[in-house]
This record gives sequence, structure tokens and C-alpha cells, in this order.
Amino acid sequence: MSSRDEGVWIMVDPGTWSHGVVVIADGVVVHANHAESLDNLHLTLRHTQYGTVLVERVQAHGMAGNDVMLTCEHSADFRRLAIESGHDTHRIYRRHVKQALDVRGKSSDAIIRARLCEEFGASAFDNGKACPKRKNKSHGDDCAICGGSGMEREPGRFAGVKSHAIQALALWLAFDHGAREVVHERPKKGKR
Ligand SMILES: [Zn+2]
Repeated sequence: MSSRDEGVWIMVDPGTWSHGVVVIADGVVVHANHAESLDNLHLTLRHTQYGTVLVERVQAHGMAGNDVMLTCEHSADFRRLAIESGHDTHRIYRRHVKQALDVRGKSSDAIIRARLCEEFGASAFDNGKACPKRKNKSHGDDCAICGGSGMEREPGRFAGVKSHAIQALALWLAFDHGAREVVHERPKKGKR
């Protein structure tokens, strides 16, 4: 098993109609989408080089509605496809993600994002800032603001990762912090 900054990692937060996905290769985000289509996600799982796939597992609270059931079906499909495609595949409950990240109560996008900033630095989700002088004719390597790079501030490593994709990213850190798949065993007779 590789560390989080080595190899390919594909994290999926399944939804009802679209899905959060983040692909990290050698520690760099190479793809992130908070509303990935089923087709695109299937392509990613089929055609990305072998890596580790982490899929969030749906947990039912009381009666599950049709939306939850659909999400379950997607989650199971993603797992099967990931296994068939040769990836090392793990399905992890949200509550275990929260435990591993030491998040209590609601695990909203904002809270998970704040937790990731604690781990990776406040500027992790910064989109960066272009140099205000970059369009000047004389702009070049002697620019006092950017030194010619065109950026006053470089984007953070998770720039552009948002909403559903943040929940997908949380799987990556949670796995690194020890969150694992739970194997459910058939209850013993008389204990149902
Ligand atoms: Zn500049």
C-alpha cells in the first residue's frame, strides 16, 4: 500500500444524479469535479492507471427513500467497476471518515474544508491571484510582483475542489488517518 502522496488515488462521493470525484497522482490533484456524470466516472475508473479507489459508503438512517437507494446502487457499481479494473478498492462509511478526521456533529463541506486546511495549510483551497500587471506591454521577468510568472499568488494544492468533491477529498485524508472498510458478518441465529 502506498502513502497518500505516492501513486494514483481515486476518491468518489456517490450522489443520486451526479458524483463528487477527486483523482490525485503522486500528491497532485489531476482531476476534481463536484458534479461528475455517471459516464465520466465510469471512464475514469476504467481508464486510470492502477491505483487505490476509495468510495464513500451510504449509511441508511431509518427508512431510506428512493434517492438514497439510487445512491447505494451507484456506490456498489463504482466499487465493482473499480475492482474489475484492477484497483485496490475500499468503501468507507461517512461516520468513519468523520472519526478519522476528528469531526463531530455535522460534516458539512465547510467543516471538512476547514479540517483539510488544518492539515494542509490555510491556503490549500486558495485559487491564487493573477499578477495585476501581467497584461502590461513591458511585463516580464523583472516584474516586482510576480517575477514574470504571471501569478501574484500561486493557487493552493486543492484550488477548485468544492462541494461534493471536498467530501471525496476527505476520504483520502481519512484513509491516511486509518479509516477502513467494515466487513459486515451474517448475524448468528436467533440474534436478528
Ligand atoms: Zn507580474
